[in-house]
Amino acid sequence: MTGSAPLGGFAAVLEDVKRTRSKKEKVRIFSDYLSGIGAGDAETAARLATGRSSQRGSRDEAQVGYSTLLEVLREVTGAGREKVSGAYLKHGDLGEVAEELLGERREQPLFSEPLTLDDLESTFLRLRSAKGKGSGATRKGLVKSLFLRASPLEGKYVVKVLTGEMRTGLVAGLLEEAVARAYSVPKEVVARAHMLVGDPGLLAAAAARKELGALKMTPFRPVNFMLAEPMATPDEIAAHFEKEVYAEYKYDGVRAQAHKLGGEVRIYSRRLEEITSSFPEVAATLRRVEGNVILDGEIVPYSDGHPLPFQLLQRRLRRLEDFEEAARKAPVTFFAFDLLYHGEALTDAPLKERKRILEGAFRGVGTLAHSEPVKEASEIRAAFRRSRDLGYEGLVLKDPASLYTMGKRGSGWVKLKEELDTIDAVIVAAEYGNGKRAGVISDYTFAVRDGDALKTIGKAYSGLSDAEIAEMTAKMKELTVESHGHWMRVSPSVVVEVAFDSVQRSERHDSGYALRFPRIKRVRADKSASEIDTLERVSAIFSKQRLKLEGPPRGSR
Ligand code: AMP
Repeated sequence: MTGSAPLGGFAAVLEDVKRTRSKKEKVRIFSDYLSGIGAGDAETAARLATGRSSQRGSRDEAQVGYSTLLEVLREVTGAGREKVSGAYLKHGDLGEVAEELLGERREQPLFSEPLTLDDLESTFLRLRSAKGKGSGATRKGLVKSLFLRASPLEGKYVVKVLTGEMRTGLVAGLLEEAVARAYSVPKEVVARAHMLVGDPGLLAAAAARKELGALKMTPFRPVNFMLAEPMATPDEIAAHFEKEVYAEYKYDGVRAQAHKLGGEVRIYSRRLEEITSSFPEVAATLRRVEGNVILDGEIVPYSDGHPLPFQLLQRRLRRLEDFEEAARKAPVTFFAFDLLYHGEALTDAPLKERKRILEGAFRGVGTLAHSEPVKEASEIRAAFRRSRDLGYEGLVLKDPASLYTMGKRGSGWVKLKEELDTIDAVIVAAEYGNGKRAGVISDYTFAVRDGDALKTIGKAYSGLSDAEIAEMTAKMKELTVESHGHWMRVSPSVVVEVAFDSVQRSERHDSGYALRFPRIKRVRADKSASEIDTLERVSAIFSKQRLKLEGPPRGSR
């Protein structure tokens, strides 16, 4: 095949994938499409279909803010603000808004030279490399050039990729199935390769070239983190493992995967975004580790042997001040607790072995996470108290025999936190405050996930510092899709961890519940809207709390 595949065909395929509810059909449609295009296009298509405009872990993202997209859409289509906000209200999806508006524009583009996947890829590359002064205008220009050439359906998917909100239901597992089917490779082989390279594009290209077997874990290609399963009590945990396990302090910072290759270090966040430039001193320390490695650990605000408030990290993540100032105000330490790669992948070695190698490579260079052996519930309880007394969040208990299961909440790792529940929710609307807070956007309505929908469960006014509110004000303005006076609907993107006293039934919110006395504990910049808590969890907390207050339902004893 010569030339790159047309974008129109790709958009039509995604539309078909989206339309069918059957997972099998989604797989069939996308795999048929993959089999008909070359390996290079398959790489782009697989990446775009999962809502990514660049390879996973790449330093720069091509993301374009909602307000820029809306502005360019208005320019290209001549639609007014009213019209745009009406369309958003109708669809609740910016991609669909673009489709509608582009469909109504007076002058339709001439389709003499249809956009291809390569065109999109090269525009995204230019978007990613537009930096510094004047880059805002360049980015706008690039997006505009796409909208000017795109058909309504193409425009819809350009927007969907740029906002990362595909909503086609082609989740990672189904994409793997499609790749397996398209290139006649066993599903397990594809899933395994996907774990090792992380990126769906590299996966599809390797499968198309029959090179899956050659894919290896490599520094600078971040992989999904292993996650811990929550358990409520030391007794439950002792009964779960029934053997001696490691009890590690649960550090309250940001999860970090540190890669070292030759003399270079790159650090990735839980979302697999590169955050090296936020923590140059961590990178400098890790450069001294011998050999090529991938470490797993937590970057913690820390000084003189004590953890500092988590909030200090937020400014560093957003690089609000120059490095020296940031490092002085918020010194950090990287606590390493796992080793995924040491010249070769170690994820299939038991934790005990990984720790042995980690200690050899890391002792004397950096700081290892505190770890002690425990077995009985009483020992777990004592270690938990010690951790809390030292200012940590609790414990993560780990089976020495467990393998590193990427991206899974395996039962090999279990976490024990303070009893108080918090909920991760996404902000969907915001309002200007009153009195002292009249000029700033300080009231936030937040929602949890219910299947594909978002359902509101409360409104929080407290918890953030003035500086954080100032940052939020800018962020909310950027995310606004519709405003009425002092109220605005925002694109669901900012995740907050909300503490509360209890869950109540409520008519006011469409979830049917409301959090009582909600306060924002922190902004979870490390989480995306797809990772927030579900309505199911809220309702489980509601039932559990009723059980606590009222005792078990009658007749159950
Ligand atoms: P949570 O954020 O409540 O789901 O708890 C899991 C998180 O705890 C991980 O993603 C890490 O960021 C963090 N964590 C802190 N200390 C450790 C540790 N020793 N082992 C594993 N994870 C840890």
